[in-house]
Amino acid sequence: MPPISQQDVEKALEEIKRDGMCRNRRSTVYCLVAGERHYPPKQVLRLAHRHRYGTELARAHGGEPTNRPLRNLGFTVGECKQIPECQSWIKASR
Ligand SMILES: [Zn+2]
Repeated sequence: MPPISQQDVEKALEEIKRDGMCRNRRSTVYCLVAGERHYPPKQVLRLAHRHRYGTELARAHGGEPTNRPLRNLGFTVGECKQIPECQSWIKASR
């Protein structure tokens, strides 16, 4: 997993906040929680990688391989207790 920075992740969060997310991208019980919003960690990692390297991350594994680098950057990632009701990250705020 090539390194990404906190700034890359923040850009990814902005992008998801702006564009919303497709519901079927939800494939994990984990959420990255920032402010009052929940984000899908895998998608965050994918977008962050694209911001930094200009290419999609070929493979993103769910669970710890995804969560650990995000946590190491200071983000909160945990099992979401609101599954399957958690949809806060799906709605785009405009
Ligand atoms: Zn959640």
